[in-house]
Amino acid sequence: MTASASLPAARAARIIDGKAVAANLRADLAVRVAALRYQPGLAVVLVGDDPASAVYVRSKDRAAREAGIAAHTFILPADTTEAALLAQIAALNADPAVDGILVQLPLPPQIRAQAVIDAIDPAKDVDGFHPVNVARLADGQPGLVPCTPLGVMRLLAAAGVGVEGARAVVLGRSAIVGRPMAALLLTANATVTIAHSRTRDLPAECRRADILVAAVGRPEMVRGDWIAPGATVIDVGINRLPDKRLVGDVAFDEASRVAGAITPVPGGVGPMTIACLLENTVTAAMARRG
Ligand code: NAP
Repeated sequence: MTASASLPAARAARIIDGKAVAANLRADLAVRVAALRYQPGLAVVLVGDDPASAVYVRSKDRAAREAGIAAHTFILPADTTEAALLAQIAALNADPAVDGILVQLPLPPQIRAQAVIDAIDPAKDVDGFHPVNVARLADGQPGLVPCTPLGVMRLLAAAGVGVEGARAVVLGRSAIVGRPMAALLLTANATVTIAHSRTRDLPAECRRADILVAAVGRPEMVRGDWIAPGATVIDVGINRLPDKRLVGDVAFDEASRVAGAITPVPGGVGPMTIACLLENTVTAAMARRG
């Protein structure tokens, strides 16, 4: 018998609508920004002409403007030196109109990403990647936290999923998703397991989860029989199949017959990332400007 044959035939899960939650968050932020005595500023720096990065940067720029945030986009040539980029960062650090700085990754090979991240003023680090913010998050202190895991926390809250005391399994341990995700869940008093490519029995670990967050970048790796009945499944993965379809790290049809609530791909975590970038920009502005 195959895994899917043993699953219930009908969908059990509630769909967590990330598009709607993100739209609400962006509308709330627009109201908060309109009430400020100043206009928060977000600087987005793109080096090179990678088409996917250019699309992301344009959508960040548009979303910022819609929320009333002043967006400054800097597009630098692909052969920009590390020194030139660091000089640009120094200028943005010193610019009082700029509250948030985001350098679009990946960077060309002649530039060390960590050197650039380290150069951003931690108070303007809206990606939450600077070591000071990483340490604050690991320590459970307030700070700027990476946008995608922050978006997952916002989704869980909007869906009314209780985190305190829950068993949470985070699948993936990257610096941008898995690790900060685990830290945020721990700070919110979940009991957290981080699983990865060396985990011995991945399906068994996942089945223990009340909240399962998948961030592996492997199309539909998490099967329906990896999921505990009634669990909340958050799919961070964005994978393009050869037939051009976009799928997550979770086999959605199977999983939604077992889970209690689940995010779709697209339309789940994805829209939250930009909304949380705007939230971080407003948070940074309020912290800097009082
Ligand atoms: P990453 O840096 O490649 O990390 C992937 C993690 O998954 C690693 O920790 C790796 O384990 C683990 N892994 C890979 N294959 C595995 C396997 N077969 N079994 C168990 N663990 C495995 O990826 P990422 O940047 O975290 O991104 C993950 C996914 O989220 C991607 O699909 C990405 O496109 C998506 N994403 C979405 C958003 C959004 O806005 N929705 C934002 C960021 C990323 P090891 O550490 O042991 O190698």
